[in-house]
Amino acid sequence: MIELHDVRFAYPGSGGFALHVPALTVSPGERVALIGPSGSGKSTLLLLAGGVLLPHSGSVRVAGDDMTSLAASRRRSLRLRRIGMVFQEFELLDYLTVRDNIALAGRLDASIDRRTLASEAERLATAAGVAALLDRKPAALSQGERQRVAACRALATRPAALLCDEPTGNLDPSNADIVTRLLLDHARDHRAALLMSTHRHESLDVFDRVVDIASFRLRGGGR
Ligand code: ADP
Repeated sequence: MIELHDVRFAYPGSGGFALHVPALTVSPGERVALIGPSGSGKSTLLLLAGGVLLPHSGSVRVAGDDMTSLAASRRRSLRLRRIGMVFQEFELLDYLTVRDNIALAGRLDASIDRRTLASEAERLATAAGVAALLDRKPAALSQGERQRVAACRALATRPAALLCDEPTGNLDPSNADIVTRLLLDHARDHRAALLMSTHRHESLDVFDRVVDIASFRLRGGGR
């Protein structure tokens, strides 16, 4: 469950971009698309939902925890264990194998069971069609394969919330469909709340609901 209530945020600098979200709830298992032109605040909203950015006022709850009242270390730990994030630029670690990238959370948080994570990594890699690549490094993968691995990494801890920022932005249509399907199916099967920004307006009918960021923008941004 992702719940934003009366959230206000602006980047420093007068007249800059500002966002006001009166209310946004994504229920367990619900898949919501976030649309709006480039620069309209989709990434900002996803970073607020993940507790990477903090709002000036209002509350952001993920899986019952209020991000705005937690110390930075607790937010980071919550992100590792309960929130899966996927970005347009994959952000895989070059020096780790695909297997270790997918199971990255186990290296960063000793309280996460590594054995469970390792078997989940195998299961997800098989579902994503990248099982044969588990021992390769990201440099030896195609763009589509890299993003499938990044999706597996986001799903490996069975997060309660999935925040995806144009995860198919750099992919050809067939890989974009594979990655989208992987994220949507996982959200449905594991009751994760999924919020995904996307430019692919032709593919919005696969989501349960579409939210237009235009309804939240106060000023600035957008093209
Ligand atoms: P989108 O994801 O829809 O492309 P963003 O959330 O990235 O939009 O950006 C929204 C607005 O905030 C834009 O006007 C952008 O220039 C501005 N912005 C983004 N990041 C920062 C930042 N770190 N500092 C100041 N302004 C920013």
